[in-house]
Amino acid sequence: MPVPTAGKMSLNGRIVPYDQCFVHAFSGVVKYGAAVFEGLRGYWNHERGEMYVFRLAEHLERLRFGMRVMRLDPVFEADYMADSLLSMIRANDLRETVHLRMVAFLDGDDELSATGPTGLVCGAVPRPRGKAVTEGVHVAVATYARLSDNAMPPRVKATGNYINSRAAELEAKRNGYQGVLMLTDRGKVSEGSGACFFMVRNGALHTPDTSSDILESITRATVIELAREAGIVVHERTIDRHEVHAADEAFWCGTGYEIQPILSLDRLAVGKGAPGELTRALQRTYFDVVEGRSNVHAEWRTPVWSGA
Ligand code: PMP
Repeated sequence: MPVPTAGKMSLNGRIVPYDQCFVHAFSGVVKYGAAVFEGLRGYWNHERGEMYVFRLAEHLERLRFGMRVMRLDPVFEADYMADSLLSMIRANDLRETVHLRMVAFLDGDDELSATGPTGLVCGAVPRPRGKAVTEGVHVAVATYARLSDNAMPPRVKATGNYINSRAAELEAKRNGYQGVLMLTDRGKVSEGSGACFFMVRNGALHTPDTSSDILESITRATVIELAREAGIVVHERTIDRHEVHAADEAFWCGTGYEIQPILSLDRLAVGKGAPGELTRALQRTYFDVVEGRSNVHAEWRTPVWSGA
């Protein structure tokens, strides 16, 4: 059966075939879920014949921060991780839009408090823009609370955190929804299983603050910056569950999700129940920037081929 991941991966700095990219079944990542990961995107720009990795430096910095908080030792240098990722893209001769995955993991076969050895794996999955970006999604509030910062580190992309997100997403999908909105253990809006939440009220953007047990999302930071540059007021604050029903528009954002309009919450339409005008405008700006059709924020795009 064909696999979705590109045929060559990078394991500990070496290019290996996909079907030989192994860690031991008793490694720390398998036994304890001790790993941190990143999802990035490489955008193919056909006119320029170039692929742009979006905000590579910020993703690597978050990965290093995650390794430190998870007490993985050593924390890899950003240059080593960038080389591993870019070599993997070039080895696969990727000339299409891809989702890029990097996992820094606890290797070896030791007990719970082991901090090393650590390993690094990188791979790519071809992934064009999904139809949810255009059409939007129907979302449910999860019965599972978002993990709290005093139990697990939500602002780190720790592999183990996703047991929480997965439970919430499975629940929503079982019930016929396309996405899930999680609340904090204090009952306030937190985020989705793999995306941050925004809503529009009276022309301003509102998003849960970074103490709402969210991942410090790079797309969230991007949307905030692009919105403010366009003169839109952005509030980062605590949001109540029922306030979402008062919103004119809402959307998800994340590297994988990009920007997806939220059409309804718990089967109650958000605004007009269709993708909103401000959401559409932000989508246009966002895609122009990530795909390199606009020259603004060139510092966010790492070219793969002209840099080879
Ligand atoms: N929240 C969670 C739980 C996520 O997994 C993701 C995806 N990484 C996001 C938010 C969005 O983060 P980013 O914009 O950095 O991809």
